Amino acid sequence: MSVTTQTNAAVTTSMVSLEPKIWRNSAACRDTDPDLFFPVGQTGPAIDHIASAKAVCFTCDVRVECLEYSLMTNQDAGIWGGTTEDERRKIRRERRKQRRA
Ligand code: SF4
Repeated sequence: MSVTTQTNAAVTTSMVSLEPKIWRNSAACRDTDPDLFFPVGQTGPAIDHIASAKAVCFTCDVRVECLEYSLMTNQDAGIWGGTTEDERRKIRRERRKQRRA
């Protein structure tokens, strides 16, 4: 499956599998505290949790797969593929806009 991922201005196209059974085994967060990836809110201590989770994501070999899976399955909560809920909403909006253009 060919997937195009747009985060901010960068566009990356790669061959990925969105089947979680395949990519989850390579997840950098596999042995981390899941609470880190599901901070409560986006202010106060959650800011540090979000930054720490994103730091893990940006070392992850399956970040594209994770992000695409979260977009495909409408994951509203947590950090997926190095993005927050708000960032994923923005990606969805941008993709909808691109499809209409
Ligand atoms: S991108 Fe982040 S949340 Fe997704 S599998 Fe990798 S470390 Fe976990």
